Amino acid sequence: MQLTDDYGRTINSLRISITNRCNLRCMYCHHEGDNREQQNECTVETFVNIVRAAKELGVSKVKFSGGEPLMREDFEDIIRALPGLKDISATTNGIYLENRAESLAESGLNRVNISLPSLSPEKYRMVTGGDVAPVLKGIDAAVDCGLTPVKLNMVLLKGINDTELRDMMDFIRQYDSSVILQLIEMMDFNGTSGYNVDIYEVEKFLESRASEIKERSMHRRKKYLINGVEVELVRPIDNSHFCASCTRLRVTSDGKLKPCLLRNDNLVDVNNKKPQEIKELMKLVTGKREPYYKS
Ligand code: SAM
Repeated sequence: MQLTDDYGRTINSLRISITNRCNLRCMYCHHEGDNREQQNECTVETFVNIVRAAKELGVSKVKFSGGEPLMREDFEDIIRALPGLKDISATTNGIYLENRAESLAESGLNRVNISLPSLSPEKYRMVTGGDVAPVLKGIDAAVDCGLTPVKLNMVLLKGINDTELRDMMDFIRQYDSSVILQLIEMMDFNGTSGYNVDIYEVEKFLESRASEIKERSMHRRKKYLINGVEVELVRPIDNSHFCASCTRLRVTSDGKLKPCLLRNDNLVDVNNKKPQEIKELMKLVTGKREPYYKS
């Protein structure tokens, strides 16, 4: 059985925030739309029940996020207890990755996205409040442990990192094709709209240098092959294609199903529910899904 919403979008992936705690303070952070005040994190068992129910409804991919997922010391326990899936990934700031990459890979994690807004220690600190050095070690560890392809998530910020695209591409070239650069258009959640780049200029820049351009089915994201380096562009704002091809359901750290990152008025609580009940609630929440940006 598969879940398909009223707009013909079949759900095939879950994006689960396992904590809203974080060790960084990124200036643009959207916190996955999770309520920062609540500290009522689900247990390993609840997350596993949610994934089991989703799998029975056709979901084959899970991405873990946060907060910072590596703030949870039982993250490996969650991964180990999951049913077999096509793809299990996580998005992390990479600060703790050097010490956790091996245990995460052993527990069954397939790959990671690592946030890296800048290679410059000064700019990195300005944007995140933290130190970039452990992140760079985390990238090496992730590649060494086979958590590949590693995607480096770079939220574009006008006047801060928009001049670093070439440096970033040069940086990932050393990893051959194990590392992909993912450029992300910033969504303004924190009054940071002054840092929004002109995304059409970025597209033009990438197009002019690409030897090949492909389109992914997920959110119809474009991928550019530039001098042996792969660059992906995530363009969520005012993008009806992004919403029209959204096939993911979100789960908050306190166990609520969340149909859309940008809305909080249609959440459905599944914390401490049995798998059969979770399945019914997943069907209910799928009926509430609606594209945020419509064409
Ligand atoms: N702490 C983890 C990390 O750094 O990846 C997981 C949480 S973070 C919210 C997940 C992803 O969302 C990161 O790749 C981050 O770059 C992206 N992100 C955060 N705020 C954003 C915003 N305002 N616009 C676009 N992407 C954003």
